[in-house]
Amino acid sequence: MTSHPNNCSSRIVGIQCPKCGCRHFLTTHTEPLRDGRIRRRKRCRHCDRKIITFEATEQLKRASDR
Ligand SMILES: [Zn+2]
Repeated sequence: MTSHPNNCSSRIVGIQCPKCGCRHFLTTHTEPLRDGRIRRRKRCRHCDRKIITFEATEQLKRASDR
């Protein structure tokens, strides 16, 4: 099985550009939030549409009660 020719370095799946529907984004900024999430600013490669995604890290699940 050959790899996709347009395989992006980003591992994020399920995110589509709301404008052109493509899935190729360039991460322009990554910023960890204090609540454990990661905010990423991305820009569509095709139409330069800017989006912001919030990602929850796996460590957040490990944060048990105290
Ligand atoms: Zn786009």
